Amino acid sequence: MSDFKLLLLICGGIYASECFVWIPSGGVLFLSWAKRFTLARGPSIRFKNPWPSGFSYRFNPSIPFPGTPSLNSHEIKTRWQNFQANTSVLLWLSRGLLMVCAGAIFLYTIRRGFYQAWAVLFGAFLSLHISIGILFWNKFGKLFPADKPRKIKKTILCALSPFQSMRSVDLLEEILLEPFHPLAVGNLLLSEEDFSGFCRRWLLEIRYPAGVPQPAETSPLLLSSSRGEEERILDHWISKQGLKTSKILAPPQPSHPSNLSFCRRCETEYQIEKGRCHDCGRDLVTF
Ligand SMILES: [Zn+2]
Repeated sequence: MSDFKLLLLICGGIYASECFVWIPSGGVLFLSWAKRFTLARGPSIRFKNPWPSGFSYRFNPSIPFPGTPSLNSHEIKTRWQNFQANTSVLLWLSRGLLMVCAGAIFLYTIRRGFYQAWAVLFGAFLSLHISIGILFWNKFGKLFPADKPRKIKKTILCALSPFQSMRSVDLLEEILLEPFHPLAVGNLLLSEEDFSGFCRRWLLEIRYPAGVPQPAETSPLLLSSSRGEEERILDHWISKQGLKTSKILAPPQPSHPSNLSFCRRCETEYQIEKGRCHDCGRDLVTF
């Protein structure tokens, strides 16, 4: 294998490894594309272009939540706006580095470019990469002053790998919304329709526990140890966001006249009147 093919193989391998994202059972991931966010729930594997934008928030129910998740809508909004104002230059530098690398790979592929072009590209690469490292260190300290261990770890990661410095804003985003409840993040990033659907799933899973053990509790109790109290807190919070729980949890309609019953928890429809849900083991109810 020639050096050129080996280089392409390595670059392709790194790119592919960043593209495939595994979301564990009951896990939640907000995927961003430009300014639009979508929600992905596990278990599933997703394909996502990692550059230049990445992942803003991950929730894995099998990992204990650090403290009590916050539902403070004002705080999450302020934090998000402050973050965007602080990282706009870093975002442009990261995009610039991506363009320089893409330009270099293109020139190398077509075997063109004068020595001067390579010198300019190398100079731009080096200055962007170093600038990102310094700015990342400063912004991390400003945004998360108490988290020094991760500041050192992530800055080293940025300094050693251009693949990571291109994603420097994502490395900061991963931490930004960590203290917040998944529903608070949904309220911030999703459209009202998507957020309403997210609330519905979350509340149904709390109100109607599965009849058989699940691999991971899909919507765990994060705010209280009792299901009733958890639902009451969330119901109160949802109404403060201008939505009505009674409307969100309206009974489903059959998608086909031959469907006679459904599962209250996962809303799978069945063509029998009585029985149990294959997915979660709950007794079925008729429409
Ligand atoms: Zn079910």
